[in-house]
Amino acid sequence: MRQVAIYGKGGIGKSTTTQNLTGALASVLKKKIMIVGCDPKADSTRLLLDGLCQKTVLDTLRDEGEDIELDDIMKPGFGDIDCVESGGPEPGVGCAGRGIITSINMLESLGAYERDLDYVFYDVLGDVVCGGFAMPIREGKAQEIYIVASGELMALYAANNIAKGIQKYADSGGVRLGGIICNSRKVDKELELLTAFAEEIGSQLIHFVPRDNIVQHAEINKKTVIDFNPECNQAQEYIALATAIDNNKMFVIPKPMHTDRLEELMMEHGFMNL
Ligand code: ADP
Ligand code: SF4
Ligand code: MG
Repeated sequence: MRQVAIYGKGGIGKSTTTQNLTGALASVLKKKIMIVGCDPKADSTRLLLDGLCQKTVLDTLRDEGEDIELDDIMKPGFGDIDCVESGGPEPGVGCAGRGIITSINMLESLGAYERDLDYVFYDVLGDVVCGGFAMPIREGKAQEIYIVASGELMALYAANNIAKGIQKYADSGGVRLGGIICNSRKVDKELELLTAFAEEIGSQLIHFVPRDNIVQHAEINKKTVIDFNPECNQAQEYIALATAIDNNKMFVIPKPMHTDRLEELMMEHGFMNL
């Protein structure tokens, strides 16, 4: 069983990419998957569940106490993917990162990880800005990380920070970076920039996902692209990403760069006419 965490700047497309790529892994590559949404927004599985807003683990624990069944917190979605949303603490109270670990521990005690799974995916909120959100890495739950980024400076800045977080915990635990996923924002020379960024931190650009309005069409219909229109080009891109992850053999301890170097890299590769 591979345990994969998806990190990246807020709004970069982590939840969209996670659901679309796991949709492809499940329906085309026939893998058995569990997704654990680790964002208090609880929107990591909406496209797989036809928009069903399922009750989060933390809400269930608060309402029903510890005496719960796996079926109360896990729902089957598209491609028979098991969907779980960890949820968040009461706003303004408690640590969201701790909440994620409470949820994972609950899943463990209910035997969720003892089933025949090929993959567990964690869709983690935002940046590793604090110890709380590094929890899935710190506690050795996820061993394999992919960072979603684009050619925008702030997306790369966040990706570099996340690489620092991974480096910090890689020595003590087994966590490794599997690659950078470019979720395109149609920035000038984005492919070249992302390839250079990934190489500079000692990793690889695992796939370049184009920006395509069909993602929004599918989203408004509460579906992954592969469910909404399996023949379209964007569906093929998600299949290619899923296949690259499934075949991936490159797992590294990243070498994050200094902010000055990051800005230099943007100047070197990121613009057309400077
Ligand atoms: P995150 O989980 O990182 O906060 P989301 O997955 O919620 O980000 O994505 C933010 C928005 O970007 C969504 O509304 C989604 O429709 C859009 N989006 C993501 N990837 C693409 C893409 N490749 N093409 C077009 N729109 C995209
Ligand atoms: Fe929030 Fe992070 Fe602090 Fe936890 S550690 S309370 S998630 S900022
Ligand atoms: Mg999200």
